[in-house]
Amino acid sequence: MTELEQLAAEIARCNKCPLAQGRTKSVPGQGPADARLMFIGEAPGFHEDRQGLPFVGAAGQFLEELLRSIGMTREQVYICNVIKCRPPNNRDPLPSEVEACRPYLDRQIELVRPRLIATLGRFSMARYFPNASISQIHGRPKKIGDILYLPLFHPAAALHQPRYRAAIEQDFLKIPELLRQVGTLEEDNPGEQAEQLSLF
Ligand code: URA
Repeated sequence: MTELEQLAAEIARCNKCPLAQGRTKSVPGQGPADARLMFIGEAPGFHEDRQGLPFVGAAGQFLEELLRSIGMTREQVYICNVIKCRPPNNRDPLPSEVEACRPYLDRQIELVRPRLIATLGRFSMARYFPNASISQIHGRPKKIGDILYLPLFHPAAALHQPRYRAAIEQDFLKIPELLRQVGTLEEDNPGEQAEQLSLF
């Protein structure tokens, strides 16, 4: 078993929050262990809960279409969510659920070591861009350590709202160049981040 598979098995047994009771399947994530690009969405929906796979419903089809627009397929990227079990009626994840699931996402990032992480929607964005508004910062990458973070609208929102759709389509087109450049880009505000870290 690979370490990612072991982690998935651990997530399947997880009981750390009440969402465990309502799940059909947990949805740990999917993709190659050495993917250079990782997408982090919000939470599994109906189809994901049934299949145990991320982004397999309408939002997933749109994500695949966006990937095609840059000559990529979902098999080349790692796809996961902030929380690994479906919230009832697809409500927003609660802060306690995000917190309970945090170690799983941290571990996935450590194991895959992507060069570029594209956040999909507010919940994954909030991890790296606290207090930011997605309308203001979407498409503007930030480098922290050796990973570049690119905040994007959530494809489910973009699917139905022409303004967001145009934005995510445009923002996606930046991905190939960002992947090429990531090794050479400077870290954003390293002093500031070091200062923040030293507060803990
Ligand atoms: N929306 C998400 O945020 N994640 C999924 O896996 C599916 C839909």
